[in-house]
Amino acid sequence: MSKSRIVLALLVSVIITAAVTAQGMRGGTPVAPGQECPPGTTEVRPGTCQAPSEPAPSILDYRPRTTLVTAEHKVPKAKFPAIDVHGHPGNLTTADAIDKIIAVMDSLNLKVMLVAENVSGARLTSTLAAINASPYKERFRVLAGVDFRNVGPDWGAKAAAQLEADLKAGAIGVGEVGKQFGLRTTKPDGSRLKVDDPQLDPLWEAFARLDVPAFIHTAEPQEFFQPQDFKNERWLELSLFADRRNNQPGQVAFEQLITERNNVFRKHPKTRFVAAHFGWHANDLARASKMLDEFPNVTIEAGAILYDLGRQPRAAREFFIKYADRIMFGKDSFQPNEYPYYWRVFETADEYFDYYRDYHAFWKLYGMSLPDEVLKKVYYKTALKVFKGLPQTGWPQ
Ligand SMILES: [Zn+2]
Repeated sequence: MSKSRIVLALLVSVIITAAVTAQGMRGGTPVAPGQECPPGTTEVRPGTCQAPSEPAPSILDYRPRTTLVTAEHKVPKAKFPAIDVHGHPGNLTTADAIDKIIAVMDSLNLKVMLVAENVSGARLTSTLAAINASPYKERFRVLAGVDFRNVGPDWGAKAAAQLEADLKAGAIGVGEVGKQFGLRTTKPDGSRLKVDDPQLDPLWEAFARLDVPAFIHTAEPQEFFQPQDFKNERWLELSLFADRRNNQPGQVAFEQLITERNNVFRKHPKTRFVAAHFGWHANDLARASKMLDEFPNVTIEAGAILYDLGRQPRAAREFFIKYADRIMFGKDSFQPNEYPYYWRVFETADEYFDYYRDYHAFWKLYGMSLPDEVLKKVYYKTALKVFKGLPQTGWPQ
């Protein structure tokens, strides 16, 4: 660099420093347009980044209280009786356990819970026996399970026979087929069992023949498959739960799982599938629409994706109105105090309210203010059509 250029550069920096100081700032790091500020700093004026003068709190400790004053409508009870199609109530084999769940269900206006514990054989029959011996047998229905271990040439026929036996015992479908199917379940040779493995076809065909739905959880939130860096909106969750890190070398990609799942939907048009968790497309409702439009044999369930609906209440409202015949309420994890968040997002027009788990979503939720007819469909009417073995009488018209 020539002497005159050095002098010029010095002069420019002195002028910038003076200008910044005049605005009350302590210098700063310049960035070019479109460039991000360095870690630990924030853009205070266009092109200038600055670090706070005190150490910044971590994302765990920054809990600002909101000063927004706005109407609040807490909804402890659903407006219409609801069916939770994605129930995980735990062990329901004793009268005491059943009584406790019923008390919670009554407090929430949950009329029926579909027990989706993916159990087969003896555990299924003991659950059904306990429910049928209780005074509440019309408050529960039970889904059977599928054992995806040891898939080989004769697996399909055996699985279909087990399904038939479980339905005879009183199950009304299968589910929730868990996330490990596709992600981690292996075949006897150690290779990953693909969701669209042709050796599973006899089972999918059996669902069509027996006219019951297959409720399956395929893949996981998209971010679980992405690098766990500070751009990842599920960073905290990935950090808390090592088993959710589907981003490790050699692991199957999100898109691959979705492709395999869609291959199954396409290959078995007479089989009715329920894609758990909105098929993990609640963050991309155009994609969810595409899935539902392409596969009339698919319905979706809204468990554990409330944070995506509540951050796009207008688009979600339109989506629910358009696809109310294809969407069912489901909660997934059985936490009694979390259900009212669903009722509030679905039923009210409340704005900017807290979600129940920071590690899912550190943003706020907004209500979708769904019309009554849509609420009725999502809470029970759609489920009654999809799961024909649900108690069909006694529902409001
Ligand atoms: Zn699930």
